[in-house]
Amino acid sequence: MRSGLVSNGMAGQYEAISSSVPSVSVVVPVRDEVESLPHLLEAIASTLNVSHLSYEIICVDDGSTDGSAQLLKEQAQIRNDLKAVILRRNYGQTAAMAAGFYYARGKAVVTLDADLQNDPADIPMLLAKLEEGYDLVSGWRLNRQDAALTRLLPSKIANWLIRRITSVDIHDYGCSLKAYRAELVADMNLYGELHRFLPALAYIEGARITEMPVRHHARRFGRSKYGLSRTFRVVMDLLTIAFMKKFLTRPMHVFGLWGLISILSGGAIGIYLTWVKLALGQDIGDRPLLILAVLLLVTGVQLFCFGLLAELLMRTYHESQGRPIYRVREVVTAKEVE
Ligand code: UDP
Ligand code: MG
Repeated sequence: MRSGLVSNGMAGQYEAISSSVPSVSVVVPVRDEVESLPHLLEAIASTLNVSHLSYEIICVDDGSTDGSAQLLKEQAQIRNDLKAVILRRNYGQTAAMAAGFYYARGKAVVTLDADLQNDPADIPMLLAKLEEGYDLVSGWRLNRQDAALTRLLPSKIANWLIRRITSVDIHDYGCSLKAYRAELVADMNLYGELHRFLPALAYIEGARITEMPVRHHARRFGRSKYGLSRTFRVVMDLLTIAFMKKFLTRPMHVFGLWGLISILSGGAIGIYLTWVKLALGQDIGDRPLLILAVLLLVTGVQLFCFGLLAELLMRTYHESQGRPIYRVREVVTAKEVE
């Protein structure tokens, strides 16, 4: 990463602590994975040592009850490549990843599952791709080793839906193995179960995104923390993302437009009915059109007010966090180019 890259001021901040900054931070959310952890730490360390990459592993224990936290704490005291972050209770994978991102100092950040389903041996390949100029490289589990009916099928449908709605053209959103540039991670805020939508969030932030086939193994130890029930939550999160992508900076364009259309048509019908009553002297009290006119006017005003409120909220969102509505990839001046 070169000093010409500026994004929200974070790049400069990372580079200021120069020599102690590792090339890569490996962030791993952990819930009840005590049997996998020793193998995982070993696999990450040996891959990255072979590739001569400086690294740190950040394991975030997300309220494990099987002794994972204890193991991580012990390991973190004896090995200097591991930072153990222990959360107070179980917050979910997204929160665990967000905590990992907070503590990550590397120039690149790689995330992967603790259950050995992702293969740490793929990390150098993803990092090399990142070097080609991408901000996010997402893993694609071409040969996925999970149950067909309960996991693969819903995932296929979800991926198709997400691809359509977010217009980020990758095949496997659910794959945890991904590599990011540090500045990109610093720019993204995570809520709910949005870790699945990190590529979509990154796209909103203007990132260059690509994908690469990665290996995938069946679970050797423990069991999956998710079932079919997550489908509903994924759909809700998808709606949020779809909205954010389109209207984060201009909600009034949506609500205002529909509000206006509704008010105008309600008004027109109202005027017509008034004319019928006054000029023709007919009774309008029992006409369905009257109800329609009232309905259109009321919804129209509500949509309009909602749009205004959304505008206010959006401004608060951006200004309270010092989030500009744009992201700078590079600033080039004559002095830097010379
Ligand atoms: N995980 C977590 N908190 C949770 C659930 C899961 O940190 O509440 C971790 C889990 O330990 C694993 C990763 O998130 O490292 C993915 O979970 P899992 O393997 O169960 O999901 P699957 O691969 O079956 O989709
Ligand atoms: Mg898994």
